[in-house]
Amino acid sequence: MNLPVLPTALLPRVYELTPDELAAWCRSHGATPYRVDQIRKWIFGKRITDFAEMHDLPAALRQALAAEFSLFPAEVVRHQVSADRTEKLLLKLDDGEFVECVLMREEDRRTICLSTQVGCAMGCVFCASGMLGVKRNLTTGEILEQVLRLDRLLPLAERITNVVIMGIGEPLANLKNLLPALDSLNLKGGMGIGARRITISTVGLPDRIRELALTDRQYNLAVSLHAPNDELRTKLVPVNKNIGIDEILAAADYHFQKTGRRVTYEYVLLSGVNDRPEHAQQLAGLLKPRIAHVNLIPMNGVTELPFVEPTAPRTQDFLSILKQFGIPCSVRKRKGADIDAACGQLRLQAEGRGA
Ligand code: SF4
Repeated sequence: MNLPVLPTALLPRVYELTPDELAAWCRSHGATPYRVDQIRKWIFGKRITDFAEMHDLPAALRQALAAEFSLFPAEVVRHQVSADRTEKLLLKLDDGEFVECVLMREEDRRTICLSTQVGCAMGCVFCASGMLGVKRNLTTGEILEQVLRLDRLLPLAERITNVVIMGIGEPLANLKNLLPALDSLNLKGGMGIGARRITISTVGLPDRIRELALTDRQYNLAVSLHAPNDELRTKLVPVNKNIGIDEILAAADYHFQKTGRRVTYEYVLLSGVNDRPEHAQQLAGLLKPRIAHVNLIPMNGVTELPFVEPTAPRTQDFLSILKQFGIPCSVRKRKGADIDAACGQLRLQAEGRGA
C-alpha cells in the first residue's frame, strides 16, 4: 500500500485515538477491531518505540500505522536525574513549545507528574509555571506522550503505579483533553492504572470541579488552597479574587458527595507568609467539619521568586496544630531537590527567562 509520507511531527499520535476510533480505523484498513487490543498492548504495555516492532500485526497494517500516525513526535531536550532517582523531562512539542513531566520513585510507588497546558493562566505568585502566562492547552496525545516517555525510563519489571496531574497548567481548564487521556490510562489493555491512583490537582475552579464530579469518575481531587483566608489567598493565588474560598470548599464538598473520595487540600508553605500558627488554626477551622486531608508542601525554591521554605521545626509546628484539631495531614517528601524540580523551572530556562 503506497501512502504519502508526511513528516512524523505532523502526523497525529496513534494513542490520541480512543479505542473505538482506532477500531474504526482498523476496519477502514480491512483489519478486524481485535487488532486494537494488540496495538494498545504494544504501546502501553510493551514499550515499543517503533511501529515496526508490532510483529504480531500484518506488515501492511504496520506500514499503514507508520504512514498515518506518529508515536513520539516530541523531542526530549533535557533529561535530569536527581540523586534520589527522580527524573525530569523537558519536551519540545511540534510547535516549538515546551512542557515538563516528572517520574518519582518511592519504595513501593512509581509516581508520574504530568503537565496539561503550555504555561498557566492562574498566576500563583510562588510558581514558575505561571510566570509566562498560558499559551495553549495540551492535546490528549501530548498528555499521553509524557506518560509513555516516562514509562520507558523504567526497567521492564517496574510499572507506573500512580499519576498526579500537578505539572504545568490548570488541569480543570483542559478537562476535555485530560479526561480522555486519563481514561485511556485507566482502561484494561492500556496501563490499567486504577482511577483511585490518579489525582487531579486544581487551583479551585468551582464550576469545573462540579463538572468533574458529574462525570462519575473515581479520580482523586486535590485542591491547592495555600491560604486559610481570602485576603491572603488572593495575594498568593490571584484568581481567588473572583472565586473565594467558600465557593471552592462548597464545590469540593459536592465532589466528595458525588464520588465518596476524600478531598486533599494542598498547602505550599512559604516562610513568613502563610506558615504562622494562626494560619494553621484558621485552616483547621475550615476543614474540621469536612472529610479531608491536608498535604503540606514546603516551598521548592525557584531562583526567580522571593519565597523560601520554612525551617523544619516551623513546618512541624504547623503540622502539629492541624493534628491537634484532628485534621489528617502530612508533609510531602521533597523529591528531586538537586535538580530543577520546581514546576515550570526547566521550561522557564528553555524560554530564556530562567537562571
Ligand atoms: S501553582 Fe499550578 S495553578 Fe498555580 S500558576 Fe503554577 S501551575 Fe498554575
